[in-house]
Amino acid sequence: MQLITGTTKLLGVIGDPVEHSLSPVMHNRAIASLGIDYVYLPLPIKPKDLAVAIAGFEAIGLVGFNITIPHKQAIMPLLSEISDIAQGVGAVNTVHRTDNGWWGTNTDVAGFISPLQALKRDWSQTKVVILGYGGAARAVVVGCAQLGCTEINVIGRSPQKLSQFQQSWENTALPVSINIHQPQQLPKLIPQADLLVNTTPVGMYSDLDQSPVDGATMQRLSAKAIAYDLIYTPSPTKFLQQAQQQGAFTLDGLEMLVQQGAAALEIWLGQTPPVDIMRQSLQEQLQGNGK
Ligand code: NAP
Repeated sequence: MQLITGTTKLLGVIGDPVEHSLSPVMHNRAIASLGIDYVYLPLPIKPKDLAVAIAGFEAIGLVGFNITIPHKQAIMPLLSEISDIAQGVGAVNTVHRTDNGWWGTNTDVAGFISPLQALKRDWSQTKVVILGYGGAARAVVVGCAQLGCTEINVIGRSPQKLSQFQQSWENTALPVSINIHQPQQLPKLIPQADLLVNTTPVGMYSDLDQSPVDGATMQRLSAKAIAYDLIYTPSPTKFLQQAQQQGAFTLDGLEMLVQQGAAALEIWLGQTPPVDIMRQSLQEQLQGNGK
């Protein structure tokens, strides 16, 4: 562990809870590898204490922080400036102190598209199918629009929430059409999907044998499709195993986690982050032998 001195600069992650966050491990390994005088702390903040905590961060000169559930939207009115990307997503996950006050942005979008950009494809004809309409789905929509996708289909179980999700994009300049569908329409949609993204928590450690798509429906997935699960543990999830059986290309959520963190670190430090070390620290932590 690096030496904390009287001059050590502070970074951190706020949330309620934050105990589960892998960000402290990832960022402190990066900081150690860069040999810089920083430390990244878990900062548990209850919703009722958010405003006073942000004022306190200003007072102690915190350099920047990440935001996890449940503060990603609540933080927005407390910031001086918000990037266009974060405005588009409707949520902030990274804040940096500037001369003008707190500046907020959203690096989940960059994290999500990073492994897709590495495939170096033309995305303009890609038919996207997104399972779920929560916070992560919003970053996925903005990311797909950034890639150049023009048709996004969102599937969710509550007709009311689906329709609210669609309406929330109506006054944005996003150059993409967003269609909404009920789960029973999935068998018709799956064969047309070029990029199928799971943004629901179905298949996480508490329900390992679950998938958001039933086996028979997944058999309709094209071998040319990409199946992307934002879940990073377990890997592969049942959803990705089903897609692999169809011959589809699969991506788990680990690289998104690494790249959203790397993008945040670059904002705070103004230097290139050690992405390989950040990835390795997460892999070790997830395998239970974090160093
Ligand atoms: P969220 O805002 O709570 O949204 C969850 C979505 O999943 C909602 O649309 C919810 O619908 C739906 N859902 C939940 N349980 C379901 C079920 N049993 N069947 C069908 N739909 C269900 O959560 P989030 O922040 O978007 O996160 C979603 C997932 O993405 C989590 O697994 C999270 O770990 C992952 N994630 C990964 C990264 C990364 O860096 N890899 C980043 C962000 C998120 P209802 O509202 O109808 O329940």
